[in-house]
Amino acid sequence: MSLMYEKTSVWSKISESELKEIMVLGESYKEFLDKGKTERRAVEFIEKRAVEQGFIKLETALANGKLNAGDKVYYTYKNKAAVMMIVGTEPMEKGLHIVGSHIDCPRLDLKQRPLYEEGGMALLKTHYYGGVKKYQWTTIPLALHGVIFTKEGKKVDVCIGEDEADPVLYINDLLIHLSADQMQKKLSEGITGEQLNIVVGNSDFGSEEGEKDPIKKKIMQILFDRYGIEEDDFAVAELEAVPADKARCVGLDRSMIAAYGHDDRSCAYASLEAICEVENPKKTAVALFVDKEEIGSNGNTGMTSMFFENMLAEVLLLEEGPVDLAVRRTLGNSQILSADVSATFDPTFPEVSEKLNANILGCGVSVSKYTGSRGKYSCNDANAEFLAEVRAIFEEENVIWQTGEMGKVDQGGGGTIAEILAAYGAEVVDCGVPVISMHAPMELVSKADVYMAKKAYRAFLKTSRAGAKF
Ligand code: MN
Ligand code: MN
Repeated sequence: MSLMYEKTSVWSKISESELKEIMVLGESYKEFLDKGKTERRAVEFIEKRAVEQGFIKLETALANGKLNAGDKVYYTYKNKAAVMMIVGTEPMEKGLHIVGSHIDCPRLDLKQRPLYEEGGMALLKTHYYGGVKKYQWTTIPLALHGVIFTKEGKKVDVCIGEDEADPVLYINDLLIHLSADQMQKKLSEGITGEQLNIVVGNSDFGSEEGEKDPIKKKIMQILFDRYGIEEDDFAVAELEAVPADKARCVGLDRSMIAAYGHDDRSCAYASLEAICEVENPKKTAVALFVDKEEIGSNGNTGMTSMFFENMLAEVLLLEEGPVDLAVRRTLGNSQILSADVSATFDPTFPEVSEKLNANILGCGVSVSKYTGSRGKYSCNDANAEFLAEVRAIFEEENVIWQTGEMGKVDQGGGGTIAEILAAYGAEVVDCGVPVISMHAPMELVSKADVYMAKKAYRAFLKTSRAGAKF
């Protein structure tokens, strides 16, 4: 028994062999970050990993007309969301164990008519996606990912700036010498949305005298040669600018990782690796990877979409009895970890946190009973009964975890997919990796916390505990 509680660092509690595991996971996580910079790329990575691990396409399993305990299936939806599922020994109607994360991140999307020429440069207009501090996106190397359709209906995959040999893209900021007016502005207005214009060209080499927009024309020629696209094809394109830098270890002790997209790819990756280590669970285990969380979870690949319910209906159609009721029972009886990152105490900005209830970097995976803002508005406030159940599962597997809220009361706030999943009547709690500099082009996490998130999700997905008794 220990009468008093003290938060302690993961690093101080682990064995030599676990230290090795943390570092190995850190390296494979960096690969996921570099290869999965957009929701489409993340789905490609998840699908490949699932297939490697013996998961079969859900459609194939359904065509066979039967799913048996222990079967591993995966499902992708519109190339932007994914589900991995291991069928349990218990009927699905008794509830699933789900770990739900999101694979979209804040970024800059190209507008539908993006390209123009001005002042000796060709530029692309953007519209930011998710919550960003706009000034942070200037003067850093950017890469471009996405798809364009030609008029012949050919889908073209665009990727510029990731290969070492590739050029990168860039957004201008004003030189300090002429920033007298800009420096007087509020931080939120120093760079505006319409100033986030991406430079893509400067050369009009070989153009004819008096030619209109020769730099822009040259860029279109390059795009035509490489991808076979014309300017009006941008109208039916989906192109996303993201930081071009690769994930890097941080600290002389290599204990942390700086990268684009820890929110929420740290939790997505932790749950991907967790479900890969689960065999023959009692409850059907599900890793759910959704899109659009950063813009409110709307859209047909976001959590408010019916795609996951529809998928479950197809699965439950294999059983006897009314499907609609089976879906309701399955979801209503489910227990869910909403796997999303959480804010963390930052010694440089201590004033926004209440230290007793803030996450501390390196002290383990974070459990947040509630998120939301003001008086807990717009959040899922988890039930104590379920929290107790989650604690018991974590203790059984020696998961090092901490509780943490977003920040001081009335300082701001944020939401996750937890409240959407709670609408089914399922038990849900937020549980994820603590992050520093959330939504910045390069965010920071501790490798120890990513590792504990994986350990926590694995413990939750494979548990054979009887479940909470309410
Ligand atoms: Mn998130
Ligand atoms: Mn976010």
